[in-house]
Amino acid sequence: MRALIALGGNAMTSADGQATPQAQEGAIAAAMERVADLVAAGVDVVLTHGNGPQVGNLLVKNELAAHVVPPVPLDWCGAQTQATVGFTVLDTLEASLSRRGIDRRVAAVVTRTLVDLDDPGFSRPTKPVGRFLPREQAEPLIAHGETWEDRGEKGWRRVVASPQPVEVLDAPAVDALIGAGFLVVAAGGGGIPVARREDGSLHGVECVLDKDLTAALLARTVGADTLVIATDVDNAIIGYGTPDARPLGRVTTKQMRAYADEGHFASGSMGPKVEAAVRFVEAGGRRAVITSLDRITEAVTGPDGAGTVIQNQT
Ligand code: ADP
Ligand code: MG
Repeated sequence: MRALIALGGNAMTSADGQATPQAQEGAIAAAMERVADLVAAGVDVVLTHGNGPQVGNLLVKNELAAHVVPPVPLDWCGAQTQATVGFTVLDTLEASLSRRGIDRRVAAVVTRTLVDLDDPGFSRPTKPVGRFLPREQAEPLIAHGETWEDRGEKGWRRVVASPQPVEVLDAPAVDALIGAGFLVVAAGGGGIPVARREDGSLHGVECVLDKDLTAALLARTVGADTLVIATDVDNAIIGYGTPDARPLGRVTTKQMRAYADEGHFASGSMGPKVEAAVRFVEAGGRRAVITSLDRITEAVTGPDGAGTVIQNQT
């Protein structure tokens, strides 16, 4: 049994949202205990993770230090966070495994994800990144070609494209490492977005990717039976935040698409998780589960599972 586990931002910052290195390492260490449980249960695990809070911090540094050191583009921020989160996962997961007497090595792959420059996302950027700034401070950045939007009282905020991930380009390296017995961390933050030039060469692109949508692609590429989207809620909920709220258990892709069309899943949070889960199963994956980090072992190995399970056949 192979499972691709996609860890949300909540697995990488402490509950109070602190992002000090100690808080991030502590949160990742806690998450890796749960991942080690899954490995101990005999599941062949491949990991991916989000990077929203980490990239957010890098953008603030870019902005504050721009007069001293040149700002780096978003694809560089993505690469940097794959490295820092990746090595922290290596240290903490290897420690959790070794405490359980499991002698497995972990590897993190710097992973590029192909995007299409004709994606409509590029002509109409919608994804907010970085912090709010007063208009006067946003103006020079707008002059630099960035797109900023007036968000009213809070100030102005940069928006960037969030195109569809097309292909996880470094999947062959991930496969080779899995074949050699490694537990692999890949496509952090949805992968470093790159596009292909007419001459065939690849170059980084300034945009952000959704880690859950890339996870759905990666899960298919590595032949995972199960895609697990681990977040901070046990289930996807219909009527979320209303008196009629109802957690979803087992659902077909068709039912899930119908709930999504009725607007049950918020676009910046649960929406892309549901979309990723449905895509994975539609593309031939056995089942996708949306649940909390604490329930991932139960979700993958338990008789009745846990969380919201998207599956077509029984
Ligand atoms: P992560 O950072 O772990 O990737 P997000 O914060 O983006 O996760 O998404 C999880 C959040 O989605 C939940 O904490 C919840 O507040 C929100 N949410 C929005 N709509 C729903 C829904 N229909 N069911 C459950 N959670 C929802
Ligand atoms: Mg979150």
